[in-house]
Amino acid sequence: MSTQEKNIKISTINEVQENKQDKEKNIQEEQKQIQEEQKQTQQQEKQQTKPTKEVLKIENVSKKYQAPNGEIEALKKIDFTLKEGEFLSIIGPSGCGKSTILSIIAGLESKDNGEIKIDGKIGYMLQKDSLLEWRTIYSNIMFGLEVQKNRTKENEEYAIQLLKKYNLYDFKDKYPNQLSGGMRQRAALIRTLAIKPKILLLDEAFSALDYQTRIMVTKDIYDILKNEHISALIVTHDISEAISMSDRIVILSNRPAQVKDIMEIEFEMENRDPINCRESPKFSEYFDAVWKGLNIYE
Ligand code: ADP
Ligand code: MG
Repeated sequence: MSTQEKNIKISTINEVQENKQDKEKNIQEEQKQIQEEQKQTQQQEKQQTKPTKEVLKIENVSKKYQAPNGEIEALKKIDFTLKEGEFLSIIGPSGCGKSTILSIIAGLESKDNGEIKIDGKIGYMLQKDSLLEWRTIYSNIMFGLEVQKNRTKENEEYAIQLLKKYNLYDFKDKYPNQLSGGMRQRAALIRTLAIKPKILLLDEAFSALDYQTRIMVTKDIYDILKNEHISALIVTHDISEAISMSDRIVILSNRPAQVKDIMEIEFEMENRDPINCRESPKFSEYFDAVWKGLNIYE
């Protein structure tokens, strides 16, 4: 082979390689474009599957308590809605009227003004799990059905199914004080779920637990509620808890409670839960926004 021939061959090889690189580059760009398109379709689908049906609507609700030493104005023109499948937190300073809102929704307190529309059965979970210490876990769960005068064979079987599904069946003959704080809370949740609620009201349901247990229990309960397609209204004074659990947060003022703001919480991660969303940089941004929204110095 002459030198000229060799040079031609080398340059041809170079050209082939360049062509190959160009092609690879094109393929990479195409793949990138496909990924981008997939991402956009996923986002569009997410938008479309956003819940729109309202299961709870609170309109212009006000409440004054008549106390021995005068009137206490607790709520002033409260307005918000809870959508199907949504987790909505209510956050506000201690004593501002959060529990009053839940009590009115649950029908335990009267309201002075306004409208409340409820679509579906309501379950209620409090800070104290209120399990009866002298009854076994099984009997505590049946007690929920007895109170509702609904202890049918079918409902009993449903409760047993829940105990099995959420790993408490092996503890059914134990007494509450033989269970950890987290397991007690799960038992209390199953007692509430056994009555087949569509909407769950949680009033500072985790605040009696120590920090680590609380985080584990919020995930536990979040997963169970999502799994059972229950809409949740969560009262808390803990900003991190509100962000980690919610699709939206209602921020209340000092007493009398008024709605100051309603914030959307969204994390761009698949299968978001109350633990993994804490790793997102958006978590601290939301924290600052809620903190500012609460403005405790007001
Ligand atoms: P939060 O749950 O935000 O801490 P609450 O809704 O429990 O606040 O209470 C709001 C205000 O109403 C508080 O000042 C509280 O003392 C008062 N309050 C709550 N329940 C009653 C009641 N049954 N009688 C009189 N005052 C009440
Ligand atoms: Mg309260």
